[in-house]
Amino acid sequence: MAKTFYCKDFGGSCNWKGRAETVEELLKKISKHGAIKHNMKGMTEVMKSKIISVIREQ
Ligand SMILES: [Zn+2]
Repeated sequence: MAKTFYCKDFGGSCNWKGRAETVEELLKKISKHGAIKHNMKGMTEVMKSKIISVIREQ
């Protein structure tokens, strides 16, 4: 089963979603998206665990 992350699950109105086979791979995509679209500078451990908590198995 793939891992899916919906940006809107993390608050805001962004419709981006990321999919990957592993959490690690997905986190990389999310951090790239965050840097480009949300001016996110790096990912803290707290942020990472919040993101992981909203990742869905789909
Ligand atoms: Zn987004």
